[in-house]
Amino acid sequence: MDVIKKAKGVEEYIIKCRRDLHQIPELGLNLPKTSAYVASEIRSMSIEFRENVAGSGVVGLIKGSKDGKTIALRADMDALPIKEETGLSFASQNDNMHACGHDAHTAILLGVAKVLSENKDEIYGNVKLIFQPAEESPGGAKPMLEAGAFENPKVDAVLGLHVGNLINTVTKNGSIGVCYSNMMACLDSFKVKLIGKGCHGAYPQSGVDPVVVVSHYLTVIQTIISRELAGTDSAVITVGKINGGQAYNIIPNSVELEGTVRAVDQNIREYIARRLEEIAKDLSKTMRGTCEFSYNFGYPPLVNDEEFTKYFVESAKKIVPREDIIELKKPSMGGEDFSYYLKQVPGTFIFMDTPMAIDGHVYPNHNPKFAIDESQLFKGAALLIQGALDYLE
Ligand SMILES: [Zn+2]
Ligand SMILES: [Zn+2]
Repeated sequence: MDVIKKAKGVEEYIIKCRRDLHQIPELGLNLPKTSAYVASEIRSMSIEFRENVAGSGVVGLIKGSKDGKTIALRADMDALPIKEETGLSFASQNDNMHACGHDAHTAILLGVAKVLSENKDEIYGNVKLIFQPAEESPGGAKPMLEAGAFENPKVDAVLGLHVGNLINTVTKNGSIGVCYSNMMACLDSFKVKLIGKGCHGAYPQSGVDPVVVVSHYLTVIQTIISRELAGTDSAVITVGKINGGQAYNIIPNSVELEGTVRAVDQNIREYIARRLEEIAKDLSKTMRGTCEFSYNFGYPPLVNDEEFTKYFVESAKKIVPREDIIELKKPSMGGEDFSYYLKQVPGTFIFMDTPMAIDGHVYPNHNPKFAIDESQLFKGAALLIQGALDYLE
């Protein structure tokens, strides 16, 4: 199959879908308009599918005419609670925005579905189309898997991509970033309530000041990174929220804080979680207070399969020039729930650079002026098609 030609053939269709979806962005697990759009498109292609998988998920199945394995191709469909400011003619019609490009992912996978459903005689085995909700929050991949998205037939490998401008080293439109192992971090959160004893600000001896406890806690937990991990190991601890106190001259009863942990290695992730709790408990005890601690293990680190990625890169060379395939040597500290699929089966996740300037400036993913160079989208479809066909063959 001349994959580039076939993908070019559905380029207009992909752009149309992307613009339709861009105007109706929805959030989380419940995406009624978006999933109805996807279902109606793949129904018109006579692809068998399941709806309402883990909320608004849609799982399509294209059976090739020859026996073989099953590969899953994944697109996320959800948007962000951001008011769009691009001024584009097809801008969002509500208060949400596809500011992470998931509209493009969904449109690309619809284009892939169109090409593959019309060329079943060239497919060995099956291609599963995974349209999932809630990648941004609270997570759609895990419930999709729990709802059997990778069963009947059992999925052997998975492939997915992300558009935008996510990695600084990938700067040319249409170039792709590939990574042979740990590519993205976990996405965890933690909450601490440091409890003291409230009193008059002039008489601290009559209480226990949790504001002072929190000030120590903030600096001590950063030494987990700087003193307890090797300099070559990457992890981030960020406290993004602190709440406590009512007046300048009152020592409050308690202070609450919330933060996030990003680590690309599972052992380091678990180590940090344990140390955040130990320090909270021991420090508050030392300073005569108590604490409540909770840690939420969110999306795991995203780890690509080395062998699969090597094969995929050979497929990608048929679609994009060799110099446009860039190996990402350093992981991104962002999180992605594609990681759950990669914990089940081998596969790979790639970045595709699609920057487009608004008012002369290229804005990052999650910005109200984030925009996509639509002329690159057919390449995304071509990469998924070529990757899938080559794997199955
Ligand atoms: Zn995002
Ligand atoms: Zn995203």
